[in-house]
Amino acid sequence: MATSVKLNTGAQMPILGLGTWKSPPGKVTEAVKVAIAAGYRHIDGAFIYENEKEVGEGIHAMIKDGVVKREDLFIVSKLWSTFHEKPRVRQGCDKTLSDLKLDYLDLYLIHWPLGFKSGDVNFPLDEAGLVIPDNSNFLETWEAMEELVDAGLVKAIGISNFNKDQIEAILNKPGLKYKPANNQVECHPYLNQQKLIDYCHSKGISVTAYSPLGSPDRPWAKPEDPSLLEDPNIKAIAEKHKKTSAQVLIRFHIQRNVIVIPKSITPQRIQENFQVFDFELSEEEMKTILGFNRNWRVCGMQWGIKHKDFPFNAEF
Ligand code: NDP
Repeated sequence: MATSVKLNTGAQMPILGLGTWKSPPGKVTEAVKVAIAAGYRHIDGAFIYENEKEVGEGIHAMIKDGVVKREDLFIVSKLWSTFHEKPRVRQGCDKTLSDLKLDYLDLYLIHWPLGFKSGDVNFPLDEAGLVIPDNSNFLETWEAMEELVDAGLVKAIGISNFNKDQIEAILNKPGLKYKPANNQVECHPYLNQQKLIDYCHSKGISVTAYSPLGSPDRPWAKPEDPSLLEDPNIKAIAEKHKKTSAQVLIRFHIQRNVIVIPKSITPQRIQENFQVFDFELSEEEMKTILGFNRNWRVCGMQWGIKHKDFPFNAEF
């Protein structure tokens, strides 16, 4: 089983990475160090996670100790929605690079198709609690992302939370210079994204699955919400393989050639989540897991439902 996915740029992207959303600044440096020591070579971050300085400290500690070289690592970050206006894109990228203390990113994504009012408020909301849009259009934002590649600041560019029509709009943009290399979307057995994955793969766009464990630490979790890690059907499959539910949930993506980025700040779990290359789910088990789909979303971006570029009204 391949441990990386080839991007349309020719680069290899490690199929398993460490997620860092909600990882507190005081914990994430150690989490990154533990992950690299365990064999992770891909770290997923973002400006909006407010911990990129500390993520960078973990990376540099491991480089300094001679465990890895910069070129062995695959570092991903994301342009936040308040940076969508063309001149702001470079500023967003520069901020992330200076926080991480890196001179390039391996992959930089537009975090959401929705542009928010530019400024220092990360979630500018109106009185109704809905995001205040900017005047940008994600096709222009994409052009500014292409300039980051030409400036040598990022090796590859991609998107996140884009639906099929939005991806198609980029692919059909007159004068398109670089196709998106990756679309990072929520994906797990309760939202298996089969149609979107098939579409992206048919266009040479790799897919990364976020919230693969169902994001139990999401701030808006309710007790009545479904739980992937507690799902008895997943547990039964895990027991058959003498693995944990988390390992089955991660392995599920690897067998679909989908990149996966479980988050943890717990050393034992970070290690456990990497022990997924020594077993295989049968075709039957993969089909069974695909059958658990229930269109349940962790990240619905409910503040953006009225935005012209809200992605989740389309079928996929
Ligand atoms: P995950 O589905 O990765 O779940 C993380 C939670 O699971 C944490 O509470 C963690 O606890 C727990 N956990 C991790 N491993 C295990 C295990 N082996 N057994 C039991 N519990 C475990 O959620 P995320 O939403 O964080 O998604 C992963 C990453 O995807 C993010 O961190 C981020 O990098 C990215 N992402 C991107 C988004 C986008 O819009 N592009 C949106 C959402 C996520 P603990 O840490 O305490 O160990």
